[in-house]
Amino acid sequence: MEERKEVTPNRAYGSIEELNRDLIACSLCPRLARYRVEVAGSNPRYRGERYWSRPVPGYGPADARIVVVGLAPAPHGGNRTGRVFTGDYTATNLMKALHQVGLASKPYSRSRDDGLELCGTYLTAALKCAPPDNRPLASELRNCFRYILEEIALLRNARVYIALGRVAWDTLIKVFRQMLGTDIPSRSFSHGKVLEISLGGGGEKRYLIASYHPSPRNMWTGTLTHEMLVSVFRKAIELAGFTPRCFSGASGSGRGDP
Ligand code: SF4
Repeated sequence: MEERKEVTPNRAYGSIEELNRDLIACSLCPRLARYRVEVAGSNPRYRGERYWSRPVPGYGPADARIVVVGLAPAPHGGNRTGRVFTGDYTATNLMKALHQVGLASKPYSRSRDDGLELCGTYLTAALKCAPPDNRPLASELRNCFRYILEEIALLRNARVYIALGRVAWDTLIKVFRQMLGTDIPSRSFSHGKVLEISLGGGGEKRYLIASYHPSPRNMWTGTLTHEMLVSVFRKAIELAGFTPRCFSGASGSGRGDP
């Protein structure tokens, strides 16, 4: 039987950096706190490499208009490199698509010092520690919800939120439900789905887009193709109402916050 821990109310962090100071010291999930350390070096390809082995913060400019949410860092990807969507095949699949539409400076994401910059785009995950077999417990997702909730609240310029996979989709629905204090209809996940959310009475809109996760398995089986992923990002750019020009010398917010 899973132990149930309640989500603490918003602590009103002043910035993403402040939030990340607490986040990287978190050991609320004993199973994940053990696994993120134990898994280090278990892949012969990275033996001898020093792993990050801590919760992995989001990456990108704090004034991003597009937020991409995945499931969790990979044991030998984000958990190794210390940067989300970095150092594994999923990262390459994602970055190729982001680069093609002008949201990433490079078509790869290999390490924290690879010089990758993101344009108006912030990457994060529903769960901040790598789970064994990519399968978090419900209690672990509940524990970690406090961080994604705070993170989304701090990304004040965001207009479009892309969920990579069902867990990220359900997490984003929960975030908005909690932030708005109301239920959100039409909650089922299907690739390409766009959910429009109205904020208050002022007519302000936010958009949630559902996408299959760019995992090697989904890409190899053709469940998700590069073109499908590019089309998701083109839709996000259109809904976010900006033209990514960071890497062609024009204006824009291209710096990433490691
Ligand atoms: S998954 Fe989240 S709540 Fe659990 S230990 Fe990691 S950072 Fe903390």
